[in-house]
Amino acid sequence: MPRSTTRRSSPCTHGPSCPACGTATRTSKAAVRAPSTTSGWCKNIIKVCASGGVLSVIDDPLHQEFTVRELRTIVEVAGLAERSVAAHCHGKPGIMTALEAGVLTIEHGSYLDDEACTAMREAGAILVPTLTIIRELLDGGGLPPYAARKLADIARVHRDNIARAHQAGVRIAMGTDIQSSGDAPAAWGRHGREVVLLNDIGMNPLDVIEAATANDPATLGRQAPRSGLLHEGFDADILVVDGDPLSDISLLADPSKITAVWQAGTLVKGRRGCVTPAPVAVCAPLSHPESVRRPTYSLHYR
Ligand SMILES: [Zn+2]
Repeated sequence: MPRSTTRRSSPCTHGPSCPACGTATRTSKAAVRAPSTTSGWCKNIIKVCASGGVLSVIDDPLHQEFTVRELRTIVEVAGLAERSVAAHCHGKPGIMTALEAGVLTIEHGSYLDDEACTAMREAGAILVPTLTIIRELLDGGGLPPYAARKLADIARVHRDNIARAHQAGVRIAMGTDIQSSGDAPAAWGRHGREVVLLNDIGMNPLDVIEAATANDPATLGRQAPRSGLLHEGFDADILVVDGDPLSDISLLADPSKITAVWQAGTLVKGRRGCVTPAPVAVCAPLSHPESVRRPTYSLHYR
């Protein structure tokens, strides 16, 4: 599991205070260079916004925000430093453009249709559905009207299209892009909801666990750490679950059922010798959102 305690990007649903938006630039050369001049940012990956967002004021999730030429340049220059490119992307035009340019991961994928799913599968791209943030925003309400309208449009199709992608064989990794501190929707201890929502769209528990373990490091491309598998030479990232998540995946969303956590071999939750009888060990960053899975830097033009 990639580890970082640094989260510098705002959720790429782009609230008005988004620091990334404030530093973004339209030109692809400058866009690629900007993170490298910001110490501590973008250690593992370059993240771009290939479509508009939900909480942002003036854009549209259906609109793409870079040309394929711009994205190709970003992918090319990122590749010089062995960085892959992730794309926040709701609308199909942005998804198709990102895939054509060689972007590795599509975040959200709200308007994936059959053609886009095929393109993702053939490109070997990875989908990060971020179901939690959609649900939490719907449940929480209180959005300004412009954002509520965009969210409602996305919510009508997002779940079905993620299910479509799964059925089409698109590789899925678990993650989210909302703040993970305080009482934010995906705050520590709450973001396990994503495993339940992935199960709800038709992924069986083992698929969900794979999405949250083996598939997550792959989203870092050549920066992927040796983690996500219980295997010699890999980081010992292990959860101990009081119960069988293959029978009840919601156990992974309940912190009280996670009785011990080892991170790179270091016990960070639970006590040595406290493991309950017949525990189920899951190699994981199951309880870690995208912000820890990979430090990101959102580039966005306003
Ligand atoms: Zn986003």
